[in-house]
Amino acid sequence: MNNTPASPTQHPDVIPVDDETVAIRWHLHEHPELGFHETTTTAYLTSLLKGHGIEILDLPLETGVVAQITGTRPGPTVGLRADIDALPVEEDSGVAAPSLNHGVMHACGHDLHMASLLGAAFWLSQHRDLIAGTVRLIFQPAEELGRGAVAVIKAGGVDGLDALIGTHNNPAYEPGTVVIGPEPMMAGCVRFRVDLHAQGSHGAMPHLGTGPIEALASMVLSLQTIVSRSASPFHPLVVSVTDVHGGDVWNVIPAEAGFQGTARYFYAEDAQLAARRFRQIVDSTAQAYGITADITWDDFQDPLVSDAELAGELASHVDRYAKLHAVEPTMIGEDFTEYGKHTRIAFAFIGSNGRPGYHNLHSPRFVGLDGELATGQNFYAHAALETLDFLRKQA
Ligand SMILES: [Zn+2]
Ligand SMILES: [Zn+2]
Repeated sequence: MNNTPASPTQHPDVIPVDDETVAIRWHLHEHPELGFHETTTTAYLTSLLKGHGIEILDLPLETGVVAQITGTRPGPTVGLRADIDALPVEEDSGVAAPSLNHGVMHACGHDLHMASLLGAAFWLSQHRDLIAGTVRLIFQPAEELGRGAVAVIKAGGVDGLDALIGTHNNPAYEPGTVVIGPEPMMAGCVRFRVDLHAQGSHGAMPHLGTGPIEALASMVLSLQTIVSRSASPFHPLVVSVTDVHGGDVWNVIPAEAGFQGTARYFYAEDAQLAARRFRQIVDSTAQAYGITADITWDDFQDPLVSDAELAGELASHVDRYAKLHAVEPTMIGEDFTEYGKHTRIAFAFIGSNGRPGYHNLHSPRFVGLDGELATGQNFYAHAALETLDFLRKQA
């Protein structure tokens, strides 16, 4: 008699964090593994998921795991993604349970991401009656290498997804804070490298050869004018030379030298501008010094921008369990952007510290507070249910 469509699901306000989730976080923190080597992490995640009755998808992934929770009613499929790799950093954070793997640390807080997603997954698996559709859980390898998202996509991990939600902890904000919105959040990334070829000679007889060192010095300085003289001051752009090399003894002018670094941008036209000016400066300088240059310019990651409608929808519900903060863009990059080529994406920062003098991501002294878990877990679980509602309304 009543044919009105199903009303939006009633979602709980705050899902409490279990002791198990906190213990999982610290176990992961003690056992960090580098990108594409996360074998014990993958085994640990898989056994926890199975132990909670969650289905593991059989995908050809070397590391990382994709699982799925099917609701009691049919509907769209939403993915939740956490990255699982650590960094080659020697921990110096002073936490009670530091890394036991020498020289490797969860200095980017991916242990928080995994535990938050597991906490949400355990809760969702016990509340399948609230799920009209399917929730897919993507534990992605090798984010720090910028290649893990592509590996998941190639393995079929996003096939059939209608939307995908990602998070990253952010120590600039205190726990209890969610940062999400339609504005660009994270920068596009370029890796560049220049190899200079000259004719080396005796340090006392420079006139018998050509040298790469002066050309290199001139290039490094001139490249700074891409930002200061070519780009619009209203568009954020970074060109950082981070490594220079050439020569190894005091009395030989080397034949080879080179440098590498990164460019970061938010607008495609700036990436094109930077690429064009970079080539002009390097090629013309090399010519002026009578040497040659090989340039590698690898624009490997687009800026991270959430689907505006979906991000707006998720932002509108944050006050149920956390404090919403407006997007403040960062020049750091994220390979989550890769998924945007295949499905609708939305991304949030979750506050993980916010104390005066906090240490940033990738620092050996980075500390992600346990309070992040409550916010991260609640964001994942609520975002999954809200996205399913949102997609159903749009269908
Ligand atoms: Zn990270
Ligand atoms: Zn990182």
